[in-house]
Amino acid sequence: MKEKATAKCYMSLGSNMGDKEENLKSAVRLLRDSGRITDIKASSIYVTEPVGYADQDDFYNICISFDTDLKPLELLDLSQSIEAELHRVRTIKNGPRTIDLDILLYGDEKIKSKRLIVPHERMFERAFVLIPLSELKDIDVPIPTDKSVKKLRKFTF
Ligand code: ADP
Ligand code: MG
Repeated sequence: MKEKATAKCYMSLGSNMGDKEENLKSAVRLLRDSGRITDIKASSIYVTEPVGYADQDDFYNICISFDTDLKPLELLDLSQSIEAELHRVRTIKNGPRTIDLDILLYGDEKIKSKRLIVPHERMFERAFVLIPLSELKDIDVPIPTDKSVKKLRKFTF
């Protein structure tokens, strides 16, 4: 039987409400339990001071890599259903959220549609994305140094 084509993807996950580490674990497990995502590898957890709306708790951020046979928009649908399941509240822009899942890279595809832009538009200016991502992949852009992004510990799920 012919194997389904898969793409290697990278995602950034962040949480700054409730049990943040548990929220990250739940999100990664829900991705895995979809049955469409294999070979998940995760970076360490980084603690990041919030940008934008500053009157909120620190973020916990990780990056993950995986293989998937989902198409880009199907992967976005799955991510958004996981955000909804974990009760993400989307009130203030850049404000507190239970969980945020962003698609950074999908193979080497460039996508610009109404719902999805890949590579993620702001990833190359965000230390809290590039620092964990650099644990999983060689990055050929300068990684910003940012003292507000601190390695916390190994992440397991
Ligand atoms: P941010 O992640 O920038 O803090 P949001 O998560 O609230 O903000 O933004 C969500 C919107 O961004 C969604 O409606 C989604 O359609 C859109 N979007 C565009 N590109 C991507 C991407 N690469 N990954 C995730 N969402 C994306
Ligand atoms: Mg997002």
